[in-house]
Amino acid sequence: MTHTIAVIRGDGIGPEISDASLRVLDALDAGLNYDFVDAGMTALEKHGELLPAATMAAIGKHRVALKGPLTTPVGEGFTSINVELRKRFDLYANLRPAITFPNTKARYDNIDLITVRENTEGAYGSEGQTLSPDGQQAQSLIRVSRRGSERIVRYAYDMARRLGRKKVTIVHKANIMKTTSGLFLSVARDIAKDYPEITSNEMIVDNCCMQLVMRPEQFDVIVTTNLFGDIISDLCAGLVGGLGLAPGANIGTDAAIFEAVHGSAPDIAGKGIANPCALLLGAGQMLEHIGMPDKATRLRQAIRDTMAARDRVTPDLGGTGSTSTFADAIIERV
Ligand code: NAD
Repeated sequence: MTHTIAVIRGDGIGPEISDASLRVLDALDAGLNYDFVDAGMTALEKHGELLPAATMAAIGKHRVALKGPLTTPVGEGFTSINVELRKRFDLYANLRPAITFPNTKARYDNIDLITVRENTEGAYGSEGQTLSPDGQQAQSLIRVSRRGSERIVRYAYDMARRLGRKKVTIVHKANIMKTTSGLFLSVARDIAKDYPEITSNEMIVDNCCMQLVMRPEQFDVIVTTNLFGDIISDLCAGLVGGLGLAPGANIGTDAAIFEAVHGSAPDIAGKGIANPCALLLGAGQMLEHIGMPDKATRLRQAIRDTMAARDRVTPDLGGTGSTSTFADAIIERV
């Protein structure tokens, strides 16, 4: 069976890591066809707009996209393309796995967790944000809905079941934010009852941060609201050695976009030394999403083995290899 996916190669280091990642995917024999479309600076130069209609149509049609990092131009009138994509496709679930790999600067060697962050509501809505005319008072609105909470919590539990994960931790601040976090927690408690084979526990967000730093191995899947998920997932990326190994998936009902968490890294663009692993791990999430978990496992194992052997790895991992040689070394192991 073949799948066609939209591919946005991205800006800066995007084309380098995208091309390397596609070579690895080809070596995995996943039967993927690529529909290359533009976004970001490349699209602005070629088509005069950051997010052309043809790109949106391709993502809508194929329902799955692999996206290299995009530079958000500084200046008025440019909104973040990532935020725009999230809104247009209602990508409500942000999945951020954190896994330790060998030979990194990570403090722990036994982390394998996924943060499932609600991506569309919570404290991040633009409505209700006001600043008094004298600039002395600001306020913003936190919006949590039953429907939004249900769909993210159900997504987390279904994913846990599909991936054979054993435990889901519901992270909240319902002791203080009794209405918003309280609603999320009560919905999550109800949904947890539908998954008796999965252990559920609850943790207040501040305690969760401390526990992650002290005993990260106790976590498997974390589900939480937008702001807490944003912060927790970066904390987890730091625990496993930083941005070069942090992928992210943005999932909606009609489309899903897989990417690296890092940006276009203008300081090293064109030098051929960017680490392709974050995007590759995003591609691994994509393989799981389209029903090829075995290939995703093979991909992660090949990355793990390459890093364990320190074979042709890039300078950010202490090696002298290039984006391309690192990909070659992974290809030899898939
Ligand atoms: P960045 O993530 O691009 O870079 C931060 C640092 O990490 C740099 O020193 C860079 O060299 C290094 N780095 C990043 N990825 C690396 C890799 N794969 N291998 C080795 N080193 C790597 O962050 P920034 O410089 O703040 O942002 C640059 C641009 O990227 C901005 O325009 C920003 O808006 C955009 N951005 C896009 C995304 C996205 O598309 N998802 C995410 C974050 C930032």
